[in-house]
Amino acid sequence: MKIDILTLFPGLFDSPFSESIIGKAQQRGLLKVQTHFLRDWAEGKHKITDDTPYGGGDGMVMKPEPIGRALDDLRVSSSGSPVLLMTPQGKQFRQEDAERLAGHDGLIFVCGRYEGFDERVRYLVDEEFSIGDYVLTGGEPAAMVMIDAIGRLLPGVLGCDTSAAGDSFSDGLLEYPQYTRPEDFRGWPVPDVLRSGNHAAIARWRRQEQLRRTYQRRPELLEAADLDAEDRRMLEFIRQEAGEEE
Ligand code: SAM
Repeated sequence: MKIDILTLFPGLFDSPFSESIIGKAQQRGLLKVQTHFLRDWAEGKHKITDDTPYGGGDGMVMKPEPIGRALDDLRVSSSGSPVLLMTPQGKQFRQEDAERLAGHDGLIFVCGRYEGFDERVRYLVDEEFSIGDYVLTGGEPAAMVMIDAIGRLLPGVLGCDTSAAGDSFSDGLLEYPQYTRPEDFRGWPVPDVLRSGNHAAIARWRRQEQLRRTYQRRPELLEAADLDAEDRRMLEFIRQEAGEEE
């Protein structure tokens, strides 16, 4: 997958994408992240990319022309890649978006700064994404979050020691609790079943704890999750247990 990022601060991306899993994916040619300096498409001696808002008010607004020219060029060099605008007003980015976007050969991210974009920039993009209900100083951290979530889903990026298949949200639920050595840590033991070697019992325990954790922390996820009859039985048991504790 080729990822283009349009930004006023290309240097911000150097370290996050040169190390660890995404860095290795780039070295192995599974992913190519290329930053583009927005000012290269600005005109005049001062290469201005922002201006004061019509109607008055604080702060500066990103001008549409440099972004428009940059996207005209990127849509040629990375033809077919959808253009994604980073904005707190966009659709909240979710795992299902990461899965869908991982199916493209390329993606173009547009990062804002200052008070955000001239409204007409929205007409130039395919989708608008927010990473959450809070305001960042710029779109770069949002693009990093999305690229990390998408990049780890590309075939071959995660080794066999890590897998995306059982992660939280991959089947609409949170993941079950995980344990490693030691068997006893400060009086908190590893559940017996995980040391039993009984794979069927372990699978059953994990499913039950996945349901329990989701019920306790994100009950709204259960409404959309694909649950079979056995899941529903377990959930009923978990609900009854919780009711008894209250
Ligand atoms: N004035 C804008 C508003 O209230 O909607 C916020 C502008 S913000 C300070 C500057 C830039 O950071 C935005 O244009 C966007 O690219 C990025 N940004 C801030 N919060 C974000 C979020 N939650 N998700 C995605 N991008 C965000």
